[in-house]
Amino acid sequence: MNAPSKPNDYSAYPDAEGRFGGFGGRYVAETLMPLVLDLGKAYAQAKADPKFQDQLKSFNTHYAGRPSPMYFAERLTEHFGGAKIYFKRDELNHTGSHKINNALGQILLAMRMGKTRIIAETGAGQHGVATATVCARFGLPCVVYMGATDVERQKPNVFRMNLLGAEVRPVTSGTGTLKDAMNEAMRDWVTNVHDTYYLIGTAAGPHPYPVMVRDFQSVIGIEARAQMLEMEGRLPDAVVACIGGGSNAIGLFHPFLNDDGVRLIGVEAAGHGVSTDKHAASLTGGRPGVLHGNRTYLLQDDDGQIIDAHSISAGLDYPGIGPEHSFLHEIGRAEYLSTTDQEALDAFQLCSKLGKGKIVVMNLCGRGDKDIFTVAEALGRKI
Ligand SMILES: *Cc1c(COP(=O)(O)O)cnc(C)c1O
Repeated sequence: MNAPSKPNDYSAYPDAEGRFGGFGGRYVAETLMPLVLDLGKAYAQAKADPKFQDQLKSFNTHYAGRPSPMYFAERLTEHFGGAKIYFKRDELNHTGSHKINNALGQILLAMRMGKTRIIAETGAGQHGVATATVCARFGLPCVVYMGATDVERQKPNVFRMNLLGAEVRPVTSGTGTLKDAMNEAMRDWVTNVHDTYYLIGTAAGPHPYPVMVRDFQSVIGIEARAQMLEMEGRLPDAVVACIGGGSNAIGLFHPFLNDDGVRLIGVEAAGHGVSTDKHAASLTGGRPGVLHGNRTYLLQDDDGQIIDAHSISAGLDYPGIGPEHSFLHEIGRAEYLSTTDQEALDAFQLCSKLGKGKIVVMNLCGRGDKDIFTVAEALGRKI
């Protein structure tokens, strides 16, 4: 194991086997093992290649629109009368969320590996849209697996993917949601590995996906850190992000891991409440187990069967969480709270708990146009 060089060097993880302490790893069928080992090797080479990094940087700048702004939310700060609140504006990226950061990195890797067909899973559809978009950009065929239930409730994104030339395959197995779509995508991958690359949308899955997705999303935290130093002359007191599988959160957190004075706060979706059976708070309301190739905190029943996650936000209803978060949770470096559907409307009150003179950075990971119908229904309004 790559022991950290100093006790608080949390960024040294994972080890060569993809383990973050007791989490992560490569829990895959024998047929899948050569694929993930091959991918691990290809990613390690790409990561160390300045040409790959330059190419990614160029697409991030000219195609995705990075760096995203850091905005001082003056009126919200006044409203709460406490800490200065900043928004990291990742919803201004091309396709409207942070997903493009990861989709760009992985498709460049896929092409480097000589793959000619891209598959992905999607829940709410933001990752599917980002993947379909980069596939259209580079002229690669794209198949997106999406739970049949999600296809039904996220029609605008299904239509967008189709317009971009992607084939959306509804998955009816299980409960027809994100975890089933991911199972189906893994099945496709193992069957078509000669030409196919599986572009996973969050910091989960078998090693090297959690570290790879984290690296591609770390552009958020790297920018946020530099922007704070430039705008405030110091680091923030806390950074806050929502958690589905945990990719935007780990991307924001990672560059701050060794800044001891910066609190890292992840917010899980508590749905109707963590004491009910309708939530998506894997760390708060789950326990460790194995799903989709890694060991992490999961929502499961007494027999270890995965329980379906619920959140009013379709993008947050994953029954697991990236393994690095499970690790940061257990060692206490990051704090994980949860917010109910109802509280989500007032979620920013979290920021006001810190007093005057403090600085909080909140990651705005997506613009949520697709959610207006859900919000209207929750508010009892008709569009
Ligand atoms: C996908 C998505 C999420 C959840 O995914 P993470 O991997 O936890 O970041 C959250 N917000 C938006 C806008 C998304 O598109």
